[in-house]
Amino acid sequence: MKNFLLIFGFIAVYSCGGSYKTSSSDKKSEDKISVSKVKISKSDLTKYGKSITSKELKDYLYVFAGDDFEGRDTGEPGQKKAAEYLKKQYKKLGIPSPLGDDNYFQEIPESYFRGGIKASENVLAYIKGTEKPEEIVVLSAHYDHVGVDAKGNVYNGADDDGSGTVSLLEIAEAFVKAKKDGVGPKRSILFLHVTGEEKGLYGSRFYTENPIFPLENTVTDLNIDMIGRIDEKHEGEEMNNYVYLIGSDRLSTELHVISEEVNAKYTKLDLDYTYNAKNDPNRFYFRSDHYNFAKHNIPIIFYFNGVHEDYHQVTDTPDKIEYDLMAKRAQLVFYTAWEIANKEDRLIVDGVEEDGE
Ligand SMILES: [Zn+2]
Repeated sequence: MKNFLLIFGFIAVYSCGGSYKTSSSDKKSEDKISVSKVKISKSDLTKYGKSITSKELKDYLYVFAGDDFEGRDTGEPGQKKAAEYLKKQYKKLGIPSPLGDDNYFQEIPESYFRGGIKASENVLAYIKGTEKPEEIVVLSAHYDHVGVDAKGNVYNGADDDGSGTVSLLEIAEAFVKAKKDGVGPKRSILFLHVTGEEKGLYGSRFYTENPIFPLENTVTDLNIDMIGRIDEKHEGEEMNNYVYLIGSDRLSTELHVISEEVNAKYTKLDLDYTYNAKNDPNRFYFRSDHYNFAKHNIPIIFYFNGVHEDYHQVTDTPDKIEYDLMAKRAQLVFYTAWEIANKEDRLIVDGVEEDGE
């Protein structure tokens, strides 16, 4: 999650979206849409969803957010190590890159960045769809973080965004297992690990300006940025089975309905839309990578646990992650992606991105 810039707060005061309507007030279109019947039973699909485990997430995260990767500062050696690590995992899973051969990196030249940031790379992996391979479902998470402080303390970024990064690996594993069993996704899935998020959403902007697959064929972006922790508002056992969803109803009513339905069916999380309010002063909708897709009118969902005391501190470490909850949140992303990738018709876009930074 990119640090909050005060100026957004001022802009927010002047940008109250009077014409905005939530889909909950739009009952008519909700009634018409229901989750399509995928040729797989609930129990079979659950088998793949449950392959996303707290144990595997934990194993990945202790490496990925360990001191070895030096806080994954964009363009620096620790970030390069993290990129190599992700490539190695996809190769292990037998998931190819859309760039072909052994090239999992979309290089971003130094000239693209401002403020002395060195060249960096997005990491991409890809499962080709069986029936509509040209239509792409993007799952994204940024893998960079903010590096090391002056005294050499590592910002581990376990939640931000180690949690999203390792969740993508587990979701990828679930999809590839299904594919091996002959029930691979109908549409293609792109696992997009973007760089430079903390410096200003560079990697996702670069991807959307230089897409590997045409943006007009990009059906959605489900973006995960911080899903391993519990914020202050949700502390206490009755409250903590939650995730914040941001943006789900802004560009596609259908996306919002699918998200709600798969959650009711499989994960039963409390979906908190507090930060989806258009006049929310935190402006989270604009502060992570999904926004670079939304601004091209591609429907998005941003999955988020809210901020906490360790946000952008050296104390955002893997021992503080709630792994069971994180697994459930990652499973929600998987089931939502599954439905979007396998439904008969492409997701309907019935909203227009009208706001901006
Ligand atoms: Zn951050």
